[in-house]
Amino acid sequence: MKNSKQMKKWLDDLNLSHPLVIAGPCSAETEQQVLKIAIDLKDTDVSIFRAGIWKPRTRPGMFEGVGAIGLKWLQKVKEHTGLLTAVEVANSSHVKLAIEHGIDVLWIGARSTVSPFIVQEIADSLHGTDKIVLVKNPVNPDLSLWLGGIERLYTANIKKLGVIHRGFSTYEKSKYRNNPEWQIAIELQSKFPDLPLICDPSHIAGRRDLIFNLSQRALDLNYDGLMIETHCDPDNAWSDAAQQVTPSALIDIMKDLKIREMTIDKEEYQNQLDGYRQKIDNSDQLLLEILGKRMDVAEKIGLLKKSNNVAVLQNKRWNEILGKMIIDGESHGLSEEFILKIFKAIHQESINHQQNILNS
Ligand code: PEP
Ligand code: MN
Repeated sequence: MKNSKQMKKWLDDLNLSHPLVIAGPCSAETEQQVLKIAIDLKDTDVSIFRAGIWKPRTRPGMFEGVGAIGLKWLQKVKEHTGLLTAVEVANSSHVKLAIEHGIDVLWIGARSTVSPFIVQEIADSLHGTDKIVLVKNPVNPDLSLWLGGIERLYTANIKKLGVIHRGFSTYEKSKYRNNPEWQIAIELQSKFPDLPLICDPSHIAGRRDLIFNLSQRALDLNYDGLMIETHCDPDNAWSDAAQQVTPSALIDIMKDLKIREMTIDKEEYQNQLDGYRQKIDNSDQLLLEILGKRMDVAEKIGLLKKSNNVAVLQNKRWNEILGKMIIDGESHGLSEEFILKIFKAIHQESINHQQNILNS
């Protein structure tokens, strides 16, 4: 995988290729397992080897990691393959042990990012080191909690900082183990454009067949890297079996991924793009005009309801509109998900306008 994209500073300084690929098992299980995977990943586009040794399990009684002994196995990985090594840390004693064993990358897991106490403890114990630190998004879709974690590490003077997008848990069933909610990561990217953004499609997907498409999506959105769980015998892995891929499957995934250019310096491309953008701007103006007109009508309805003392919300009418729009939307190539989102927002705005009238 090659690309001329401008690297983020520390990735550049460390000469890490784009996209940065972090791979390795969900959990270190045995010395032999760790070394076998690492050797298979040597001489590929992978530059960082990951393995969880302290595992934050949602329910007790499951495999909770091999503990500090795994750090010795990771030292051997580094010796034998030259790969950088990465572990998850969740308290100051993890940080101390990881640093003592020469681990290069420490990541903060999704269940830790939710806790300002834990992140602060980790940040304090990292003060003054030059380790690479990656902050996973919190399990819940809360951008400010993620930002808070990043700020705590910035304040602790961590220079080689990055973030990992691993999706967000939801109560509703979805095809993903953790809903991607791409817009949260995009918002973070626009707030901190110099912070390397890495996608963890394994924990988003929860199943290996979705990993390629999620990875491509991340690269299309200009992510800087991927963290993909890789195991020599995925089906028998001691944790996250369904989402891990073999090293050879990972190599195939990387071979097929398309790396996009940020932009290209070609006059014809630029002219065509400018033309299309003009059309987009015109369409956006029309959308605003139409929405404004729709709200004018909603206000007239508000006046009518007020003079007849009728309630604003009419559920039957609203469900009819929504059902019809989903069907009509399909014939315009618009997904049900999009129609639901946009019409719920329009409906809410109409209600607000009507409510202002009723209460004025
Ligand atoms: C992991 O990377 O194995 C892990 C536990 O991830 P997360 O914190 O995203 O659940
Ligand atoms: Mn895992």
